[in-house]
Amino acid sequence: MKWRCTVCGYIHDGDQAPEKCPKCGAPREKFEQVPADKAELIEKSRQTNSLWMSFVDLVETLEELSERGIEENLDPTCVQLFKKAQQTAHELGQAAKAEMQAHVNKGKWG
Ligand SMILES: [Zn+2]
Repeated sequence: MKWRCTVCGYIHDGDQAPEKCPKCGAPREKFEQVPADKAELIEKSRQTNSLWMSFVDLVETLEELSERGIEENLDPTCVQLFKKAQQTAHELGQAAKAEMQAHVNKGKWG
């Protein structure tokens, strides 16, 4: 079961609403139960959000790795490939962050 704080939007997982909202301190009466279909959407969104966060971590690692490869400067084709990888990783990371932000703006994360 999920409970939503009507004051700040905090989502609590459990059999009943918390005594106090951990985020804003509102009392239990300020919580309402989230309908099952909405709760499922929130759960899905959380999972997708956490996938995107891992994704951003990975592409940032790829960016750093490429940076090191460029610094090593072994030969031009090597450097060119690292530059391409760095650029692509950067763009993917930015796109992923924009996608997460779009979800936040739409209120999909609950
Ligand atoms: Zn709250």
